Amino acid sequence: MIVTLARDADVPAVRAALAGLGLWTVLYDGPEGTRHLLVLDHSRAVDPETVHGVDGVASVSARSPRPPRVDLLPCRVEIAGIPIGHGCRPVLMAGPCSVESREQLESLAARVAASGARFLRGGAFKPRTSPYEFQGLGEQALGWLRDAADRHDLAVVTEALSEETVAAVADVADLIQIGSRNMHNSALLRAAGATGRPILLKRGMAATIEEWFGAAEYCLERGAPAIIFCERGIRGFDRETRNLLDLASVALLAHVHRVPVIVDPSHALGRRDLMPPLTRAALAAGAHGLLVEVHDAPERARSDGPQALCPAEFAALADGIASAAAPVERIR
Ligand code: PEP
Ligand code: MN
Repeated sequence: MIVTLARDADVPAVRAALAGLGLWTVLYDGPEGTRHLLVLDHSRAVDPETVHGVDGVASVSARSPRPPRVDLLPCRVEIAGIPIGHGCRPVLMAGPCSVESREQLESLAARVAASGARFLRGGAFKPRTSPYEFQGLGEQALGWLRDAADRHDLAVVTEALSEETVAAVADVADLIQIGSRNMHNSALLRAAGATGRPILLKRGMAATIEEWFGAAEYCLERGAPAIIFCERGIRGFDRETRNLLDLASVALLAHVHRVPVIVDPSHALGRRDLMPPLTRAALAAGAHGLLVEVHDAPERARSDGPQALCPAEFAALADGIASAAAPVERIR
C-alpha cells in the first residue's frame, strides 16, 4: 500500500497514527514536492478506507510490484538529446568490447555512426573472469572514447567497474554502464547514482527482476536521473550460447512495467552468427534498443572476438532494423 500525504501533513503524527494501526512505513519524496509513505509488507492487513481516514492522508493506492523510485520512472527518457523508450525509434549503441587504441576507436566510431548508431560503447575498465585476461587500458581509454564520440556526434556509454574510478567514468560518459557482475554491488550502485549521470543497468546473470529493480532503486535513491535497463542474458545450462537471452523479461519491462529497456545480444549469445534473428526477436519483444559489440578485426580482438560483428555486418543489421515493422503491443 502507498499512502500519499496531504501537502500540510504532520508526517511524524501520520506515521505514529499508522503505526498504531500496525502499519510500518518508509517515507519517500515523489515528483513535484509530493511525499509518500510506503507500507512495508510485514504490516497488518488494514482496510484502505481506514487508512484514508487518518488525518494528513490525501490518498491510498495499492502497492506496486516495483520499489518506490522505480515505480515513478517514465516510460521514455532523453539522454544527450537522444530519446529512448516507449514510442521512440530503437536506439543503437555499438562499439568494441574493449577500447584497444585511439585509432581503432576513431575508425569504429566513424563506421557505427554512419550505420545509424547513436551511442559509442567500449570498455576502458573490463570485468574479466580471469585476472590473467586483458583488463582494459583504463583512464586513457576514457579520453579516446570521448574524443571519437564527439567527432562523430555520438554519445558515450562505458562501464564503471569500481567506486574509485566512477568519477572518472562520469566525466566522459553520457550513460554509465553497470555490468552484470556488479548489479548486486550496492556501494558501486550508490556511487554511480551520486554522479548524477544516467545509468545503463545490466541485469545480473542470475538476478530476478525484483533484484534488478532493487539495484535500480539504489542508483535512483542517490540521485541518478534515469535508468535504462539492459537484458544481457541469464545463466542457462546449455553452452552452445554464452547465456540464455530472456526475452520474457524484456517484454515484461517494456509492456507491463513500462520502463526503458534495451538488449545486449552480443553477451547473451557469445557468437555473431545468430545476431540477426535474435535482434529482430528482441525488438519484437519490445526492446527500445540494442547494445552491440563491433570490431574492425574480430579475430584479433583483445576480448570477446567471437561475438563481435564487423562494421559491414553491423551496417546490415542496422539497415534491417530501420526497415522493420513496428512491434505489436501486448494483449490486455
Ligand atoms: C560489457 O558490456 O562490456 C560487459 C562486460 O557486459 P556484461 O556486464 O553484460 O558481461
Ligand atoms: Mn564484451
